[in-house]
Amino acid sequence: MPLYTSYPKDEYSALKKPIQQAIQRVLDSGVYVLGKEVTLFEQAFAQYCDLKYAIGVGNGTDALFLSLKALNIGPGDEVITTPMTAAYTAFAVVYAGATPVFVDVHPDTFELDETQIERAITKRTKAIIPVHLFGQPCNIQAIMQIAKKHHLKVIEDCCQAHGAMVGKRRVGTFGDIACYSFYPTKNLGGIGDGGAILTNNKALAAKIRLLHNGHQTKKYYHTAVGHNTRLDEMQAAILRVKLANLDAFIAKRQQIADWYDALLDSSKVVKPKRSKGVRHVFHLYVIQSKQRDALQAHLAKHDIITQVHYPWPLHALPAFKFLRKTYRLPHSTAMSKMALSLPMYPGLTRRQVEQIAKLVNQFTA
Ligand SMILES: *Cc1c(COP(=O)(O)O)cnc(C)c1O
Repeated sequence: MPLYTSYPKDEYSALKKPIQQAIQRVLDSGVYVLGKEVTLFEQAFAQYCDLKYAIGVGNGTDALFLSLKALNIGPGDEVITTPMTAAYTAFAVVYAGATPVFVDVHPDTFELDETQIERAITKRTKAIIPVHLFGQPCNIQAIMQIAKKHHLKVIEDCCQAHGAMVGKRRVGTFGDIACYSFYPTKNLGGIGDGGAILTNNKALAAKIRLLHNGHQTKKYYHTAVGHNTRLDEMQAAILRVKLANLDAFIAKRQQIADWYDALLDSSKVVKPKRSKGVRHVFHLYVIQSKQRDALQAHLAKHDIITQVHYPWPLHALPAFKFLRKTYRLPHSTAMSKMALSLPMYPGLTRRQVEQIAKLVNQFTA
């Protein structure tokens, strides 16, 4: 069987029985949207994330979009973010009617370079969306200082960082709002789409709760134009099972990362740089190689099907041409040509990691 960069079925296989029980429980309940599974999951996930309020939504993109809307960010406003992320981070800004502004990343960690943020701030800047990329926290404390100084809101994109920490503090607890995705390949993933918005701000949470469900203050009484983006009962029930096992799965990802670190030849590839004092949850294990495309083809020949995160920095995508802005973001551009995401999911065995590392080390272009 080939090995893939991510393989959500692996976690299902490990938790078959409780997941099947959860599915059956939802089917038998006859309640499929906004029932007690979602409420219980929201409570459990808020507790896990060390935040007071959680609202389940349809996906991570909607989480970001509704967060911007709840913070009244819209037309005429600018939002600073990274070009090294899923396009959806910046799409959410566009959906809100605001303009994404890209700032380059650190060349070693690929995280948003906080030292470049201030020169991108204008009178129109209203918020920053930092991304905790690949499961490693970005320099969120420095970003918060800049945000405070310039009175900017901060929405933490935690879609790749469930369980990550800075010191003893969870990602998502620094900014105004934290956004999560439960897309199947994420560290906490369902069997379809899902997402959540978390905050400690009661008024903001209430506003988001209204927004995500048609802005109804009581049934069929819509007090404004709302949205329809909810986490469903089936996903919530499965996510409750997965959440109870998240820390064990993270420990396995970290073990696999340690194996790669020990086995990969650093004269052949650049291994991921680990920031100090953080809990990296290894959503992805991303190496760099000048012969990336040839290395990827070599691995594919041996049934190791890898991916690239991301082959285009966002500012180079046709989708953002309409911004009519010429960016020079050399680190993101270089990274997009050299990055390669090796297989990383909890069920990978030591033997499989050895086999992958050997193929990487033996490769010569
Ligand atoms: C997956 C992801 C998103 C989008 O989440 P969806 O649930 O797919 O909408 C946003 N940002 C980042 C960093 C992601 O990895």
